[in-house]
Amino acid sequence: MLFCAGLCACTGRPEPSAASSPVPSPGATHSIAAASPTGGITESPGNVTPLAAGSVPAPLDRPRYQIDAVLDTDLLPTENGEMMQLHVEERITYTHHAQIPAGELVLQFEPARRPELFFLESLSSDRAARGGRADIRDGQLWIALEDPLAAGESIVLRLAYRRFIAREPELIGWNDVQILLGNWYAFLPPFREDAGWLAHTPGAAGEYLTYPYADFDVRLDILGGDSYQIAASGIPDGETSPLHYQFTGRSFAISLTRQMLFRRSAGPVEILAFARSEHELQGYAMADISAKTIGYFSGSLGEYPHKRFTVVESDLFDGMEFDGLVFLSPALFEYYSGDGKDYFTAITAHEAIHQWWYGRVGNDQAMEPWLDEAFAVYGELLFYEAYQPENLEWWWWTRVNRYPSDHCVDLSVYAFADFRTYVNTVYLRGAKMMHAVRTRMGKNAFLESLRDLQRDRFGLMMTSTDVFHAFQSRSPVPLADIWEEYLCQSVPAVQG
Ligand SMILES: [Zn+2]
Repeated sequence: MLFCAGLCACTGRPEPSAASSPVPSPGATHSIAAASPTGGITESPGNVTPLAAGSVPAPLDRPRYQIDAVLDTDLLPTENGEMMQLHVEERITYTHHAQIPAGELVLQFEPARRPELFFLESLSSDRAARGGRADIRDGQLWIALEDPLAAGESIVLRLAYRRFIAREPELIGWNDVQILLGNWYAFLPPFREDAGWLAHTPGAAGEYLTYPYADFDVRLDILGGDSYQIAASGIPDGETSPLHYQFTGRSFAISLTRQMLFRRSAGPVEILAFARSEHELQGYAMADISAKTIGYFSGSLGEYPHKRFTVVESDLFDGMEFDGLVFLSPALFEYYSGDGKDYFTAITAHEAIHQWWYGRVGNDQAMEPWLDEAFAVYGELLFYEAYQPENLEWWWWTRVNRYPSDHCVDLSVYAFADFRTYVNTVYLRGAKMMHAVRTRMGKNAFLESLRDLQRDRFGLMMTSTDVFHAFQSRSPVPLADIWEEYLCQSVPAVQG
């Protein structure tokens, strides 16, 4: 998420390609049967129907999501306003790899967080649920299993649901120029031996969802949406409806947009940026900053793992990262100065840097948010050093030093009552900590440590312990006292 600093070199003006774009446009076909958003199934989704006995799925390295989604963009008038509709049929295949058995499944199910807009149509499993029932509460789907899932065993879940999409600035929402679909499917969080499912609920500030790497096989049918271009985490196989995406990553987000498209490239990676027409200058800059960021970090930390990176100006209060696709709040666009000394530049870089700290390497965003946010803010500094060293003084003051904090950098999101204190602590004091570590061990060794983490934890999660080991193993001198100055947790003795 947002609030960082970066810089923008902004030389040369790329050609926008709003006209003929290979970004597919949907074709209208039939319409989803209308229903009324007046109430859904929430607290008690009812029975978990046994799936017909079939072949036992082969063990998978990571969760697999096969999703058929139909998005009807025709507005349905309701007493709560005009609604679009999303219908999803989802099949989840999961192999349990932990030695601790899983007695229950906990899925993050954000569409159900709004019960007045959500209807569960069916839920089935190839493993019996206790009492034949499941529950949905606080945006999570809970299924207690009659027989716990043991190491090496797999389970198949199927669910179908309908979600009305209201006109609102949310991750599932629409406005005059776009439709956003973030966290729109049910997914399993990681399961850790010592903590079970890393299934968290919202705090007062910060992000709380934790994503394992997963395989997505998504078919997306869009009804009545001819005027939109489609952005997504992945690239579809073709342009005919339904669009078919096969994507491996941390998450799969979608945005339909009528905004201007700006294109760049970063080596083999295609960069797409979408901005409102009144933000044309920012649109060029978004594409430029994103291309620089993806290019720089591909070279310095490890290759960006996808063929396309998309950034979308989106009607949200904050920026928000997904794998392959990030959203930027329009509020940032007013900061744009053209010389790089602005939050627009810094946050655009920040969200792209999350492709490394969140995307390639994940973390428990609720319990250890510093592991992606402090790293992403520090990435802004690396970006400015690479492209706009003349703005470093500006970055340090405007982005970091004018917002002091004395709290521990490694607090969970639940320790904070307000967003500003959370950012000042986890993001900004976190960046100071990273700089102290780098100053102590030297820049080259510091970058080697970042590279080590990106190599060793690619597609996985990292913890504080991984970080302590990575840095100490490259440092010629002890670092523990620095970590202990900034963190609450005790730092294990790590030998270099
Ligand atoms: Zn962030």
